[in-house]
Amino acid sequence: MKDTRSKELYERAKVHIPGGVNSPVRAFRAVNRTPRFMESAKGDRIIDADGNEYIDYVCSWGPGILGHAHPQVIKKVMDSCENGLTFGAPTEKEVILAELISELIPSMEVSRLVSSGTEAVMSAIRAARGFTGRDKIVKFRGCYHGHSDSLLVKAGSGALTTSVPDSAGVPKDDTKNTLVAEYNDKDSVQKLFDENKDQIAAVIVEPVAANMGLVLPEEGFLEFLREITKDHGSLLIFDEVITGFRLSLGGAQQYYNIKPDITTLGKIVGGGMPIGAYGGRREIMQMISPDGPVYQAGTLSGNPVATTAGIETLNILKNDPQIYERLEQKTRKLADAAREAGKGHICVNQIGSLMSVFFTDQKVRDFESAVTSNTEQYADYFGYLLDRGIYIAPSQFETMFISNAHTEEDIEKTCKLAGEALCSLDF
Ligand code: PLP
Repeated sequence: MKDTRSKELYERAKVHIPGGVNSPVRAFRAVNRTPRFMESAKGDRIIDADGNEYIDYVCSWGPGILGHAHPQVIKKVMDSCENGLTFGAPTEKEVILAELISELIPSMEVSRLVSSGTEAVMSAIRAARGFTGRDKIVKFRGCYHGHSDSLLVKAGSGALTTSVPDSAGVPKDDTKNTLVAEYNDKDSVQKLFDENKDQIAAVIVEPVAANMGLVLPEEGFLEFLREITKDHGSLLIFDEVITGFRLSLGGAQQYYNIKPDITTLGKIVGGGMPIGAYGGRREIMQMISPDGPVYQAGTLSGNPVATTAGIETLNILKNDPQIYERLEQKTRKLADAAREAGKGHICVNQIGSLMSVFFTDQKVRDFESAVTSNTEQYADYFGYLLDRGIYIAPSQFETMFISNAHTEEDIEKTCKLAGEALCSLDF
């Protein structure tokens, strides 16, 4: 497969962009490859600068639940562009999107739009602190909540891939109130509550952890978090930047039937454009400026083009009740094929349209077991697939995203090639 143009662009990029990329995982360093520079995408296919076509399981890291360039979304976005790109003033579209969010995720009675998942989480934490008058927060090792200072502690995703789960440049004072518990380990949470009485503002969790590879919550874990936060006057924040509108229309909280106090969204809510959102109970959100004393603002927040993409995407999902069942079936097929081929040598975690293959014989249920995965083998697996036109995440510590645009034929093709890739590995 030719990669001359991608190589040229990468060399040029490295001159004026740190590491040649605008987000670290894109550099393909964890898989020892040259990053592919992409040019266009449609449906489940993405095409690089050398004209190579791939079946795409990155889907822009989650937003692409409908696949790329859905005609209805594109049409509305183009119409919206004609009317102006940004006003810095309120629009009806923001109202419509807030109403839709609240209809689909009822715990988000009131929500505020921002421009990324990072911003959503950072603002949600500020709201929780403002509401409770407490400073400490609990997060889980291996969960990723964006790159704001106080959350770059034992973080997953690119931070884990690049071996910097605690970032340089973050003052110790900014992380001293971030307490770290173990995912799926109730005792580790209980201990932090015992040691920090009346000081914990919130527990923030990815209800399904998807940034140390995919790790599912064990039975009772999320319920336990709901109970302990309630009992201690702390808030429960579900970071649904990945799971929102993906696990179900109502996100992980609908899937598991648990109501958090605050929810953060990103990715799908913007339909491929930069949007994040945070929201929750009215009394909490009344703390936000200009109603309350917690300040938070944004020049491009609620951008009319971005909200258009979000509204269209959510409406398409809402009007297709069978979509989540179809997504699950396709993904289960991929998971079953991988399990069959990698028998005993790999662990495949899957839920809805999310999936990860770990190169370990352990059951992956937390950070400790996730990092037993042989990342060299992942790199080989990735390379085998990339060379044959299958594009999966260039890091073990991410997940595969399956979209509504993935055709049965492409799923079959992927099952076959993934099987071959696994059989080619030296376990
Ligand atoms: N929270 C979670 C669970 C995420 O997966 C991510 C990004 O992948 C973020 C927050 C940060 O979102 P963004 O990259 O849009 O800032």
